[in-house]
Amino acid sequence: LDTKEWEELKSALKREPNDLELRMVGVMWSEHCSYKSTRSLLASLPKDGPYVIAGEGENAGVVRLNHKLGLAFKVESHNHPSAISPYEGAATGVGGIIRDILAMGARPVASMDGLFFGSSDNSRNRRISSGVVRGIGGYGNAVGVPTVGGLTIYDQCYDENPLVNAFCAGILELDKACSSKTAKPGMQVLILGARTGRDGIAGAAFASTGLSGDDGANKPQIQIGDPFYEKLLIEACIELLKEGKIQAMQDMGAAGILSSTSEVAHKSGNGIDIHCEKIPLRETMEPWEIFLSESQERMLLVCLPEDIPYVEAVAKKWNLECALVGEMTDTGFYRVFNRGELLAELPVGILGGDSPVKNWPSSPPKRSASIKTSRSLNAEDVVTELLRVMQHPSMGDHSWIYKQYDSMVQLRTLLGPGNPVAALWIEGAGTVVFSMEANPWICAQDPFNGTALVTALSIRHLSVAGADPMGITNCLNFPSPEIPEQYWELEESVKGLATAARELKCPVVSGNVSLYNESPTSRIMPSPLIVSAGFIPEGINPLPPKPSSNDEGLEVFLVGRTTSTIGSLYGHITGASGATLSFDPPREMAFNQCALKVAKDGIAQAGRAVSRGGWAASLIKAIINSPFGVDLDIPWPIDEADIF
Ligand code: ADP
Ligand code: MG
Ligand code: MG
Ligand code: MG
Ligand code: MG
Repeated sequence: LDTKEWEELKSALKREPNDLELRMVGVMWSEHCSYKSTRSLLASLPKDGPYVIAGEGENAGVVRLNHKLGLAFKVESHNHPSAISPYEGAATGVGGIIRDILAMGARPVASMDGLFFGSSDNSRNRRISSGVVRGIGGYGNAVGVPTVGGLTIYDQCYDENPLVNAFCAGILELDKACSSKTAKPGMQVLILGARTGRDGIAGAAFASTGLSGDDGANKPQIQIGDPFYEKLLIEACIELLKEGKIQAMQDMGAAGILSSTSEVAHKSGNGIDIHCEKIPLRETMEPWEIFLSESQERMLLVCLPEDIPYVEAVAKKWNLECALVGEMTDTGFYRVFNRGELLAELPVGILGGDSPVKNWPSSPPKRSASIKTSRSLNAEDVVTELLRVMQHPSMGDHSWIYKQYDSMVQLRTLLGPGNPVAALWIEGAGTVVFSMEANPWICAQDPFNGTALVTALSIRHLSVAGADPMGITNCLNFPSPEIPEQYWELEESVKGLATAARELKCPVVSGNVSLYNESPTSRIMPSPLIVSAGFIPEGINPLPPKPSSNDEGLEVFLVGRTTSTIGSLYGHITGASGATLSFDPPREMAFNQCALKVAKDGIAQAGRAVSRGGWAASLIKAIINSPFGVDLDIPWPIDEADIF
């Protein structure tokens, strides 16, 4: 706590906190748990729409597929742990987001991963990227949730600050939906799943500062995952939900038992009593360690007293630990006891939500607006430049990554990795489509328009596939907010997201913020990652992004406006930066409506939204690894800006 926070805490308590209370407040008021730098910014995001069922203040957003089924989805960062311990960091990132989805009462059906790796060719980057990818596959493949897509971006700014964003989606029966807000006094509090050990202690606080550069120093803050145990946890929770035995539920993520218990109490407007000695431990631990441990594969359940024997029997059947550790009260206090002795007593709001807000100073960076004029290219130049673009590591096909993932398990995958969108067949509803996008170069140039355009592109992918946008989840990866120029970039980016989401009628239903992605020598570019989810009703197939084998002789159309502006990736590669395009809602909406009609009426055999690298690069992606070629009729010479 800083001095101001310390004073605020003392005046709220009207006394000094004891050591345990102080540690608890310190973690719950960390950036990672309290969102103190971004809570006011996020308030501006549009959160409601025709599909939205739940989201605000929940573990994940939920949208309606039909009167019976819903889709829960969210993306989260596991950046700091993955930088220190790539395999475990990425693996537990996957495990953690799965539990956020489970907490909504949904069965996890698909994962995706947004990866940002350093581009320098050195052993550190190779160790990180191979470890992260093995970690995602290692957890995802074993837990039985397919990894159906993702995104990989390489840039030097991620050399010391790699980013790992894990997305998960799940399907729920709407009448069995669960929430963390529905606990009531007298209900019992249980921990289901793994025993609590000394791993990941204070991981939340660690994620709220920059990296020190000394990996060894941060090792104890790394969590260790067990996907086979998580699989049992999923099955046990789903079984209990089906039988109506869970009244409220919360995953245990950052700040483990402390944050899950205090958030359930706060969100449902209750008090809570926790009895330390009843928590199953792997080793002897101090109370503060027990409360802050981030041991994986645990869920907090709130159940009716009469259901406890049933819950315990189901836990036993699945070979899971299950312990009754406390009860909901009407005291308004968060109380910790050890064998009857009161160890901590804090008003619930202090831990669970009413933490102080930080308003950092904001100022736009001074930019030298040097817009280079574009060149005129003949056919040979275009080939040379196209090769340069296609050889940028971010343009690769990344198959070395997704070949390590099981993308087919559960048998719903219609379009998997290697496509601009992922599509899943949902029995009894239709097809859900996901599109993950990020473009740090354009966001560095202009965080407002950049973020709006990334959001628009993500939604455009859905439209091209024939899917109506239902909602957005996002992960705001940024450096420290404490530098005025960096805070300004964050503010602008959130405004860009809010504007695009509102204008394109695709509300933001969940998300995550990861700040302090910087080391003593480097910081990341603004790197917001957007995932939008769309729906195609039964009877219509998603439009494939590549022509299939019997499509020879088809004609290729470029639909939409090509502005004479050099694209951000080409500009980054060649130093030929152009003006940033500005987000144009009416044009965007018109395009989306046109694309939807093309897909729904079966007018095209294949289609893809033009993305990074320009239309020619997108065309190459549509035919690469296929037996087809394409003949282009272009009036040479052509302006650089018209192709890239
Ligand atoms: P959890 O602890 O369940 O992972 P968080 O503490 O990360 O959730 O987030 C708290 C709440 O704020 C969640 O409901 C989450 O969806 C929401 N949220 C966080 N960041 C964003 C964002 N960038 N956009 C929208 N919602 C967000
Ligand atoms: Mg949280
Ligand atoms: Mg959660
Ligand atoms: Mg979480
Ligand atoms: Mg989170």
